[in-house]
Amino acid sequence: MLTRAPSPSVATDANVTPFPNTRIDQSAKQGNAPKSGKAENKKAARPLVATGESSAPESVRQKPVFPFSAIVGQDEMRRALLIASVDPSLGGVLVFGDRGTGKSTSVRALAALLPERKVFADCPYSCAVTSSPEHLCAGCQAASGKRTTRSARIPVVDLPLGSTEDRVVGSLDLERALTRGEKAFEPGLLARANGGFLYIDEVNLLEDHLVDLLLDVAASGENVVEREGLSIRHPAQFVLIGSGNPEEGELRPQLLDRFGLSVEIRTPTDIPTRIEVVKRRDAFERDRAGFVAAYAKADQKIRRQLIAARARLADVTVSDQILELAARLCLALGTDGLRGELTLIRAARASAALDGQTVVEPRHIAEIAASSLRHRLRRNPLDDVGSGVRIDRALSEIMGS
Ligand SMILES: [Zn+2]
Repeated sequence: MLTRAPSPSVATDANVTPFPNTRIDQSAKQGNAPKSGKAENKKAARPLVATGESSAPESVRQKPVFPFSAIVGQDEMRRALLIASVDPSLGGVLVFGDRGTGKSTSVRALAALLPERKVFADCPYSCAVTSSPEHLCAGCQAASGKRTTRSARIPVVDLPLGSTEDRVVGSLDLERALTRGEKAFEPGLLARANGGFLYIDEVNLLEDHLVDLLLDVAASGENVVEREGLSIRHPAQFVLIGSGNPEEGELRPQLLDRFGLSVEIRTPTDIPTRIEVVKRRDAFERDRAGFVAAYAKADQKIRRQLIAARARLADVTVSDQILELAARLCLALGTDGLRGELTLIRAARASAALDGQTVVEPRHIAEIAASSLRHRLRRNPLDDVGSGVRIDRALSEIMGS
């Protein structure tokens, strides 16, 4: 069973830019640009084209990232991230905790570890070659003949606070509309995140309507833009990772409930862990390539485990006994609705898949219960202990009987 992990790596990953070539400035500018109600109607007869994403070679983007296997402690967060990668439909992960505990580092490390995707080179949404037709954008669905493909690393897209809706969902490419009279769609951050991770630092400070929108898209895997005379629908399948410090404002319970998993991390307080975290971070900063090479084998092992788990997921069975265990646990904790229970079952299934098993066992439920349910518990004024403790207590009462 997972315990609240002592958290590791001192995050100094500001210089790890997942998309060094993307036109952030342009889209930022665009977000502030006055809305033109006329430009888009000018040449409506022209076919709707999408502005392409940067097509710079992948090698340009490759900068050594702190290896996932080198992260010290933080077992619960690492497990939650792995589980969300095995089953992205779980609804992402909320990471609550202190600043500088390596939240962002861990997400980037995981993305770097995942195998590259084969995507259509000319698709602005990076549609995967292996996607079923209904998960392709309209352009890819209509395309025929042999198409060029490329390998794409798994993107980690940062969603900065203060992002406008235009920047997130995409908008009319005003420049093209005004200069060339073309009605083009400028893809937003959701398009860039397709196939990867969308990371929101301080998600609790983001406007509710944006969080709502992100959760909608994350759940449906599709971004639908119907405005400014545009009608665009494109795949946006990503794992949503939100980090936040609960002391700086809270998410509404309705929003909390829609996140799949949540974890709490803290700066480690024991000396040996702190020493190890600093040692590794320092070694990484001094010789990134050498450090990454030293952990390549361990990372490779996790990569294989993930690939195998994804392949196995559909075959993992859940018995009635396990369903009953989950139901009793959620009843004992008084969780609202059934979303928590469903998440618990699905997370346990992904957890079993990660363990190389095809049957969910009670220990998989126990292992993932805190991550699946803690953000869904109502505060009990008569019971001051943390939600993690309440879940552990309920678990031992139910499983012990
Ligand atoms: Zn496409």
